Amino acid sequence: MKVLSGIQPTGRFHWGNYFGAIQQYIDLQHGNEAYYFIANLHALNTVRDPKALSGYTLDAALDLLALGLDPSKAILFVQSDVPEVSELCWLLMTGTPMSMLANCHAYKAKKEKGLPADVGLFTYPVLMAADILAYDAEIVPVGEDQIQHIEVCRDLAGSFNHHFGEVFVLPKARVLQATAKVPGLDGEKMSKSYNNTIEVFEPIGPARKKIMRIPTDSRPMEEPKPDYEGDNLYQLFSLFATEAQKAEMAAMYQKGGFGYGTVKKALADAAETYFAAARERREKLAADPAGVKEILRDGAARARKKAGEVLSRAKKACGVA
Ligand code: ATP
Ligand code: MG
Repeated sequence: MKVLSGIQPTGRFHWGNYFGAIQQYIDLQHGNEAYYFIANLHALNTVRDPKALSGYTLDAALDLLALGLDPSKAILFVQSDVPEVSELCWLLMTGTPMSMLANCHAYKAKKEKGLPADVGLFTYPVLMAADILAYDAEIVPVGEDQIQHIEVCRDLAGSFNHHFGEVFVLPKARVLQATAKVPGLDGEKMSKSYNNTIEVFEPIGPARKKIMRIPTDSRPMEEPKPDYEGDNLYQLFSLFATEAQKAEMAAMYQKGGFGYGTVKKALADAAETYFAAARERREKLAADPAGVKEILRDGAARARKKAGEVLSRAKKACGVA
């Protein structure tokens, strides 16, 4: 199968990115033709500081490699290194109804808050469609928030095919039910732009402090909490716990007689252990930025080859070749 996914360098990766998306990237690199890219053109919609953007882009590559992305198995590259995608985006834009994009949630949410939105944010789903279609991707591993954008991609590909002949492969989203929407410190979706994240490689001290400050309800200690599955802390703990550890924690919630401090400590310990090996790998990788840049260059060359083929197929079909 051909697999593709992208992740924005809008900040450092957090637990939601890892459990919703990156974990799937790593699983799917085995036995598939997998393309993973760092979406710096999308990030430009929000990061307007050039130093920060290029810094986050290199950090993104380091994080992905440290977490287990293997460049001998998957193709890892930076979005802007494949200009074919931007050209393909234009071809798709010419057939995109305004009303379809006006319905997309990233744009809608901004508009509802009364914030000014750029054309880049409005057309974001079209660039994302081009990102996917350029590699004939069949499977797109993502978190729940991206399902709508993949539907847009399927619609655009379907109508292009209808009009110009069978050019594009229609992709399917792949979402892991248990981790489709990891909650942030405030209980909302964990998101780089909501300032409610714990980063995968956050230094241990500050990460613990954040965990200890997660707001909880005012349940008296002795009382049980039977609705533990809806509890933010329990959900976060579950990300890192084995089935047996989860059952033990669930029993504690059902019985009562515990304070949330106990759960927070268990969560901090579990997270620290879970990412310890990756943290070590990241330190080694960070000592060789030239090596990482070489991996990205090589990935881009391979990605361009594929995207070039699809672009020329699309151009021929619509009469601009
Ligand atoms: P931004 O706030 O800049 O949009 P983000 O944190 O939402 O950043 P993205 O780069 O938009 O991250 O998303 C990268 C991938 O991570 C996507 O597949 C997205 O669905 C997934 N993802 C992001 N946040 C979560 C979350 N809280 N739970 C599960 N998956 C998530
Ligand atoms: Mg996002």
